[in-house]
Amino acid sequence: MTTLADPVPGGRPGETERAGALSGELAARGVHGIVLSYVDTAGIGRVKTIPTARLPAAVAWGVGMSPVFDTFLADDSIVGTDVLGSPDGDLRLYPDLDHVAVLAAQPGWAWAPVDRITQDGEPHPACSRTFLRRVVARAAREHGVTFRAAVEIEFAAGLASAPGGAFVPAVSGPAYGATRQVELSDCTAELLAACAAQGVDVEQVHPEYAAGQFEVSVGALDPVAAADRSVLLRQTVRAVAQRHGLRVSFAPAVSGEGVGNGGHLHLSAWRDGVNLHSGGTGRHGMTPDAESFAAGILGHLPGLLAVTAPSPASYLRLRPAQWAGVFTAWGLETRETAVRVITGTAGLRDQAANLEVKPVDLAANPYLALGSVIAAGLDGLAAGAPLPEATTGDPARLGAEAARRGVHRLPVSLEAAVAAFRRDDVVRAALGTVLADAVIAVRLGEIAAVAGLDDDQVAAAYRWVY
Ligand code: GLU
Ligand code: MG
Repeated sequence: MTTLADPVPGGRPGETERAGALSGELAARGVHGIVLSYVDTAGIGRVKTIPTARLPAAVAWGVGMSPVFDTFLADDSIVGTDVLGSPDGDLRLYPDLDHVAVLAAQPGWAWAPVDRITQDGEPHPACSRTFLRRVVARAAREHGVTFRAAVEIEFAAGLASAPGGAFVPAVSGPAYGATRQVELSDCTAELLAACAAQGVDVEQVHPEYAAGQFEVSVGALDPVAAADRSVLLRQTVRAVAQRHGLRVSFAPAVSGEGVGNGGHLHLSAWRDGVNLHSGGTGRHGMTPDAESFAAGILGHLPGLLAVTAPSPASYLRLRPAQWAGVFTAWGLETRETAVRVITGTAGLRDQAANLEVKPVDLAANPYLALGSVIAAGLDGLAAGAPLPEATTGDPARLGAEAARRGVHRLPVSLEAAVAAFRRDDVVRAALGTVLADAVIAVRLGEIAAVAGLDDDQVAAAYRWVY
């Protein structure tokens, strides 16, 4: 479990000693430096690195970094809000010792996620990891609910030698094909070894649908740990691929057309050790709370998209018939509905049943995405929101029936998602004014950054940044 306590200047009790012992162990394993990792509002992973011997100092007093990244865009230009985006000030990055991993594909390096606090020792209101810790803590306090979560990682593997940032698929075999598995045999075997060495329990690696596309899925953890893991896993995939002459794209779309890369969220709510999505009196074994939780997510999805599909490139992926889930509908294992109810297989259901939220991609900051989706679900749970009728098959075929059932197409552009986000008081309140304003400013900045570009140019602009 991830600690829900904030970092404190001087270190949490016992942590400096623990960091001293850990830095000695890491040094003995040949680790020279530690990557301190967080994700900004635009979804870009940002880092500072420290020598291994500095770990105790970092755990006690943090490592300085500007708060300006909260309003950085994906192209590294800077926007602002009334409180963010200034060149002034500094923050402290505090590594979470529970989630340090030795990077198997980057010899000499370890990795740790950080929380960011102010120079005065207060939680930084734009720290996305702190936000997710808060949401999880509130769920436990107010609803007696905990969560298990996982982020699916889809990526397109290209040749590193391709000129000028072009995407040239690294494999040529068919979707889900044996050919592709052989073509990337060494690389994926090394990925499995690296994940095992890092304690990442991979459930599957498979060739996906689109050109050069693969997917890694992993076991569920508490939401903060799941978000950390999704960042670590991408760092690992990237590093392994680079050793094999490949370059990977986690962008929602590598080109203007075709199936994109998703970052589907899997989420289950639990109370007193019991999975609320299984063994209940509702549909497909859901408890009334699980149905209302799903209803909350469904109802807030249009506004949530500004968080879960944050890039102009996200809307190249979010098209019907691409299994990205672009309709406000749910169904049992339906791949075209935004919320996919998964019961798991008979015999495992009490452990495996969960909700899959599909209109999420890997441009999304996973801490913001999980926190916002959970907050939306809790809103439904608290209100006892009714879950509408299930959809079977493709919602696009419902025709006139769709409106009666409340099945609508999700926002088709980042502009439309921002407009829905502005109307969604619940999601904005959960984020808090500082983060919600940062989301709006950064999304408007991205929209302006791609003004006048066609779909292929938008895809190219974001192809290698996430
Ligand atoms: N690649 C699809 C997406 O963009 C998902 C395919 C699948 O269902 O795994 O979300
Ligand atoms: Mg997939």
